[in-house]
Formats: sequence, C-alpha cells, structure tokens
Amino acid sequence: MGFPVVGVVGGGQLARMMAGPAIGLGIELRVLARDPHDSAAQVVPGTTVGAEDDLDELRAFAVGCDVLTFDHEHVPTAHLRALEADGVVVRPGPDALEHAQNKLVMRRRLTDLGVPCPRWAEVTDAASLTTFGDEVGWPVVLKTARGGYDGKGVRLVGSAADAGDWLARATEVPLLAEERVAFTRELAVLVARSPHGQAAVWPVVETVQVDGVCREVYAPAPVTEDHALAAQRAALQIADGLGVTGVMAVEMFDTESGVLVNELAMRPHNSGHWTIEGARTSQFEQHLRAVLDLPLGDTTTTAPYVVMANVLGAEHQDMYAGYLHCLAHDRGIRLHMYGKDVRPGRKVGHVTALGGDAEDVRERARHAAAFLRGDSDDTAG
Ligand code: ADP
Repeated sequence: MGFPVVGVVGGGQLARMMAGPAIGLGIELRVLARDPHDSAAQVVPGTTVGAEDDLDELRAFAVGCDVLTFDHEHVPTAHLRALEADGVVVRPGPDALEHAQNKLVMRRRLTDLGVPCPRWAEVTDAASLTTFGDEVGWPVVLKTARGGYDGKGVRLVGSAADAGDWLARATEVPLLAEERVAFTRELAVLVARSPHGQAAVWPVVETVQVDGVCREVYAPAPVTEDHALAAQRAALQIADGLGVTGVMAVEMFDTESGVLVNELAMRPHNSGHWTIEGARTSQFEQHLRAVLDLPLGDTTTTAPYVVMANVLGAEHQDMYAGYLHCLAHDRGIRLHMYGKDVRPGRKVGHVTALGGDAEDVRERARHAAAFLRGDSDDTAG
C-alpha cells in the first residue's frame, strides 16, 4: 500500500522527463540504464545499471516495482512475456508493444483493423520486391521490420537491384516495402490509454523532419478539421484495438485524400514534448497516470499555438553558453536539456514557445534552438 514504484527500462531523455511529474505526484521512479551517465541516470537516484536485453537483470530490476514501463522499445518480447509470467505488471504489455517493435507485425494488424495505411507488402527476395514496385510504382520505400529509428532502416529504392545488400539478408532481417506516399505534411497523434480502457488524445501536431530526424513540432497541425478528427479517431482505434497502456504516438502522413498511418511508438515521444508547457497534462505525467491505472488528465492546449524545436548537437559543445541570450531575448521561451554529450546531429535538448501568432511562435522556437547549438542566425535582434 501507499505510493507506488514505477520502474522505467531505459535511461534516456524520456525517462528523465518522467522524473519531474513523478516528483510532483510523489511516486517513486526507478530507472534501468545502460550507463551511469545516461540522461535519466543523472537525475533519478538509485538508478540500476544493467542491460535491457538481459532477462536476469530485468528480473532483478523488477523486484519492488509495482509496474514496469519503458523509455524505448528494445526489450525483447520474449523477456517481457517471461516477466509477465513471473507476475510483473508490464505496461504496455508485450502483445501491444510488439506492434511498435516490428513494422510488419504492425502493418498486418492495422490492415486487419481497417486503419488506413500506405499500400505495403512483405518482401523476401528481388522477385517479390519487383512485383510490388511494378504494382504501386517506383521508387518504393523499403524498411527493415525491426531496429530502425530516425530514418535508419528506411531507404528509397528505384529497383530491386538498388536493394541487393538488404535483400541478401532478408531472411535474418525481414523487409517491408511501402508505396512512396505523396504526403503534404507529416503528422503525429499522441494518445494515452489506461488498463481500464479510458483514453485521452491530444490535438494533432505537424512534425517537420530533416534528413529523417524530427526538427520541429507544431501544435495544432494546420490541417482541416476532417483530417484532424480522422487522425485522432485512428489513434484511439489503434490504442483500443491493440490494448495499449500508457502513451502512444501514432505517426501519420497527411495526403489530399486523407490520413495514412506510418508508424507507432508506445511510450512518450518527441512529437509530444510540446505538452510539457503546451497542454494541461504533459505526456510524461499522463504516461505515469496511465500505467498506474489512474484517471487521465485534461489534454487541452494552454495557448493557441505551441512550437517545439529540437536542439541538435553541433561542433559547438557548450550549450549553457547560449542560456543568457535565449532567456534574456525571450521571456516566454522554455529550455530543456538532456545532460547528453554533444555530438553533431544528436538530439541533446529541446525548446518550446507558446503564443497567439503561429509564425512568431515558430520563429522564437527556431531562433532559440539555433542559438543554443551555436548558430547565431540573423533573427537574434
Ligand atoms: P523510423 O522508424 O526510422 O523513424 P519511419 O518509418 O518513420 O522510420 O520513416 C522515416 C521517414 O521516412 C518518415 O518520417 C518519412 O519522412 C519517410 N517515409 C517513411 N515511409 C514512407 C512512405 N511510405 N512514403 C513516403 N515517405 C516515407
């Protein structure tokens, strides 16, 4: 009895950002991190150092946790099933999580549920890829079913010959081919669902990707009400259909004829960082409430426009050097740093701006993110 203990597998920035709401709620958070210097390990006392793919270490970590949840999707499904068999409460559970770990499993299930997706096929060899490409038109998007992130594990191929290296390994690393969608923008819908079946959805956001990495998020997305509602409905249907517990991000493509689901993440997500200041309940608090089967909070926005910009590492190492300027320049800007080593292109933090004018809010967020990484652009004035 008393306040519960939530164990988070993974010590990245998502676990780190759960720490604030856990403190507020008086819930004990524990983290299983790979390295004592990981982002969350720096702020969560008593972090356990261990590997998420070692069942014995997972078992030891789970002792004393009322619920186990994740900051990434890399725990093998078999280990999660073993933990459940031991009586550990795992949220989201392996049956749901598998759909965020394996894009083929996800496509099959969403197709069965009738959720709109790009046309797709499982590809086992050059012949099956050629048949699919001839049917939907080249180039096609080829993806590894497992292990991709930030666009790694995704490539555009003009013919089966372009994919020879991946096709040679298709028996070990199964492949998924998709039609190349002519999207007008990329969207994300964040939804939370509790074991009771209560669900809450935030407004649909636009995500701007550069070289496969999310650069900015605009809340709300500038889409028609029809598309926004269809996107939210699809996210709720997926959460319910898959029995998701906790927060899930559904990445989508907006097209002339409607929205199509790209992929799923079953945890708080980069597309939801704006909710820390921009929504009445942040994705991190909501995730804790959902996995603890507590009632979910209000997801309405706190301002007409909210923009989150990721701070990507550059050659410039000292992120703190930019604080004086950023905070003096813009009293409304909110800075978040993850305590990670600065490496070029790596997500090391994010900034959030809120306000009543969409273009102004974007400009403020963009300026702060650029300034922190050491690009003193001409909007500093
Ligand atoms: P990852 O798991 O690495 O994030 P995604 O499946 O999200 O991979 O794909 C990364 C990016 O590739 C997407 O954000 C989108 O820009 C592009 N992409 C993925 N699938 C398609 C598709 N079927 N059509 C067009 N672009 C796509």
